Parts: sequence; structure tokens; C-alpha cells
Amino acid sequence: MTEVLALPVLVLNRHFQPVQVTTAKRAMVLLYGGAAEALDEHGETHDFDAWRALPMRAEDDGLPIVGGELRIPRVIHLKRYERMPRVSIRLTRRNVMFRDAHECQYCGRRPPVRDLNIDHVLPRSRGGGDSWENLVTACRVCNLRKGWKTPEEANMRLSRTPFRPKWSMVAQLLLGAGERFKEWDAFLQAS
Ligand SMILES: [Zn+2]
Repeated sequence: MTEVLALPVLVLNRHFQPVQVTTAKRAMVLLYGGAAEALDEHGETHDFDAWRALPMRAEDDGLPIVGGELRIPRVIHLKRYERMPRVSIRLTRRNVMFRDAHECQYCGRRPPVRDLNIDHVLPRSRGGGDSWENLVTACRVCNLRKGWKTPEEANMRLSRTPFRPKWSMVAQLLLGAGERFKEWDAFLQAS
């Protein structure tokens, strides 16, 4: 039972945007208390009583309750969106590398992580700051070659323009390599 209560549930805000990944336990508390509704496989929303009446499908996880099993929702929808702020991804070395899939953004190689550096596209000495848009993953070789130059001056090209990660990446990070349900796809792709 504890395992079932620890399953991840995607939380949508009032505007149906994903804001969090929570546990089934917290999701059930929100559903039971009326703060959230559960979404079924067709995207229909249900309050606790309606949800309790839904039949279990073969692929569902259930929580044993008096008189049967309660289906664990995969997605819940908050009726008041101020309850859970949208998580954002912190700008760290690890997260920049995660965004870049541990690939050098100049030569495309994927050396061991210990041989990867974080490169300031516009060098710090030239006023370049720490931001999602100015930090990229670079292998040691490219990092050395680029030195204190801009990519243009070093005659090097970024494989793509660095960007602030989208929410689907945040969700992946929150979950690690863990579970993800197909019911989430529609919401994660849209964000
Ligand atoms: Zn490289």
C-alpha cells in the first residue's frame, strides 16, 4: 500500500498546465478534500465521489478501501491554482548538462561527464553572465579552443541556441529516471 501511495501523479493548475509532480498520497488528499479533481483517460474531470465510482481498468493501480479498490489517478487538476506554484528548474552545472543531454554543444561529442565543462558563450570577461541563454555544455577540447573568445571569433558554431528548459524537462528531472505515465504525454508536450 505504501508503494501505491508513493506513485507519481501529475498536477495541473486551473488552466490545465502541468505545475508539479506529486505523490498519490498527496493527490488523494487534494481530491478527497475537494481542492482537486481527478482526470480519467478521456480527460474528463471527476470529484472524489464520482472518481470512487469509476471502474478499475487492468492498467490501473488501486488502493484497497472498504468494499473494493480506489483507482489512483495519474493526473489531477487543481481547482484553485495558487495552492501549488509551478516548479522551475534551477540553473546549475548539472541541470545545464542535463538540458544539453551531456553533449558538447560545439562538436557534438559525448565524452565522460568528468571531461565536460560549462562554457560561457559570451565569456565572463566580456560581460557574459550566468543564464540559461549564455551557458552551454562543452567538452574540454572545445572549451580550451574557445578560450576567451566568442563563438564567432573562435570560428565555432553552437549546435543549437541555449534556452531555458521547458516544463517537460523539469518533470523528467523531478522524476529522475523513474516512472512516467502515458496519460501525462498530452499535458507535457503542450507545455
Ligand atoms: Zn566539443
